[in-house]
Order: sequence, then C-alpha cells, then structure tokens
Amino acid sequence: MQKFGFIGLGIMGSAMAKNLARAGFDVTVWNRTPEKCAELAALGAKIAKAPRDVVQGCPITFAMLADPAAAEAVCFGPDGALTGIGEGRGYVDMSTVDAGISRRIAEAVTAKGGRFLEAPVSGSRKPAEDGTLIILAAGDRSLYEEATPALEKMGKKVLYLGEVGNGANMKLVVNMVMGGMMSIFCEGLALGEKAGLDRSDILEVIDAGAMANPMFRLKGGLIDKGDYTVAFPLKHMQKDLRLAVNLGDNMKQPLYSAAIANEVFKKAKELGFGEEDFSALFKAVQG
Ligand code: NAP
Repeated sequence: MQKFGFIGLGIMGSAMAKNLARAGFDVTVWNRTPEKCAELAALGAKIAKAPRDVVQGCPITFAMLADPAAAEAVCFGPDGALTGIGEGRGYVDMSTVDAGISRRIAEAVTAKGGRFLEAPVSGSRKPAEDGTLIILAAGDRSLYEEATPALEKMGKKVLYLGEVGNGANMKLVVNMVMGGMMSIFCEGLALGEKAGLDRSDILEVIDAGAMANPMFRLKGGLIDKGDYTVAFPLKHMQKDLRLAVNLGDNMKQPLYSAAIANEVFKKAKELGFGEEDFSALFKAVQG
C-alpha cells in the first residue's frame, strides 16, 4: 500500500485527503488548526504533530494551502516540511501560488536531495469531493509518475506541463478568466435588474445562448437564491487575480479587464465578503 502525506485540510485539502484515505492509501495528515484532522482520523489517517513529521514519515507529501504566504510558512517555517526533506523524498504543492514561490520551494527541496512537483487544481469543492479535479502538474517527472496513483484518485484529468512554473501559470490564467467572467456576470445581473428585468429571465436568456456555461448556470442559480455558501472563498479568487495581474506585469502583458476585476474583488473583500463564496461578489456589485 502506497504511503502519502497530506498537509492543509481546508475546503479542498480535506476532501482530497479523504479521497486518498478512502482509496485505501496509508495517509498521514497535518493541519494548522488541528480540529480539522478529526474527520480524516475517522477514516483511518494518522495525525502528525508538524509538517516535518509528515514529510519524514511519507515518501510523498501533498500540500494544499491558502496562498503563497501559507505555502512558504509550511515549507520554510519552524518544523516545516523542508526540515523533513531527505534524499528522494517527494513534495507536491497543490496550492494556487505564483511561479516565483513555486520555484523557490522547488529549489529548496531539490537542494536537500528531495524532488518537487507543483500541481495546482482546477475545480472547486464538489469536484474535490468527487475526485474529479483537473490537475496541472509540472516539475520532477519521476515524482509525477510515482504520485500518479494518488493524483488519479483526486482528479479526472491529470496533465503534466513540463518545468516548474508552468502549472502555476496555467492555473493563474484559468482563474483570471474565471474571475473576470464572474465580475461581468454580476454586473449584467445587477444592471438588468435595475432596468426592471427579471433576474431569472436574464439567467435563462444567458443560458440559452452561446455564452451558456456551467459556472454561470450553477452560480447564477445560487445567486438567485441568495445562497453564498462557500465553495471557493472570495478572498482566494482575489488572491488569484492579484497574482495574475502581477504575472502580467512581469510578462509586460497588459491586463485591463483582470486589473479591474481585481479591484472589484478587493472591494468585496473590504465589505466583508472574503470568507463567502466568490459569487458573493454580486452583493458588492449590486451595492
Ligand atoms: P481554505 O479552505 O481557506 O484552506 C486553506 C488551508 O491553508 C487550511 O488548511 C489552512 O489552515 C491553511 N493555512 C492557511 N494559512 C496557513 C499558514 N500560515 N500556515 C499553515 N497553514 C495555513 O482554502 P481552499 O479553498 O481549501 O483552497 C486551498 C488552495 O486551493 C488555495 O490556494 C486556493 O486558491 C486553491 N483552490 C481552491 C479552490 C476552491 O474552490 N476552494 C479551487 C481550486 C483551487 P487552517 O485550517 O488552520 O486555517
């Protein structure tokens, strides 16, 4: 039975680690807030005291953390993952971070004789629960192959994109498009309603034409009910837009719409919607 570590049991990590435990792998977990380990323990997972202990105890460890600061804290912090890295150990960071942070972690891990893979994911809470994420892996090829049995339990599509940074950049491009779509979608709904149109009519018309897509369908229905139960936290969407705009700066690629969408999400966060689903942007746009 293959042995895997899992660090970071938030909305995504918890569902992903559960899929590994349910698949029969020998799983060891750690989370900053220890209470979140209980459901994994009930599925037979071992609980470690620190990231270092997870990495020392498992040939391959996955991490699914909030943002670049969290990924760095877990890797480089006291009793961090890096202190447990030894010859041949694998560290797979699945958090959405920028390519710079990913490369920094990769260099530190490989300098200690370890192997590194970045593997951010596309898909939200439900695909994480169902094991149907799209996984954007890049980095050490041998680690990718050894991690594949676990990646296949977490995702329906696993891509290998080459060198470290390609997975991170791909993820930021995809989420930048998603954030921009959500922003203009909310503005369309708000404008239509102020002009006296019925919200469900607007949703129906959008869904009937060439702009129809699963995100508008799902989130439109939830916005209509006023249900902003978190699947993808709004604060993380803003983080992804911030990182994408920064990538645009580095690449000298103007990002007019993404920069504005970032400002809209920043405002929504300031209004207190950061912990709600990113569709709560509608409340900020509606005013
Ligand atoms: P989440 O529910 O906010 O979980 C974040 C995790 O990071 C928690 O385990 C949290 O620990 C941990 N963490 C935060 N700061 C930390 C620190 N300084 N030190 C150690 N641990 C820290 O987020 P999520 O929705 O699972 O997302 C995780 C990552 O996946 C993010 O990068 C996000 O952008 C990406 N992602 C999310 C979705 C989605 O739909 N939710 C989809 C695709 C990708 P605590 O429990 O102690 O707070």
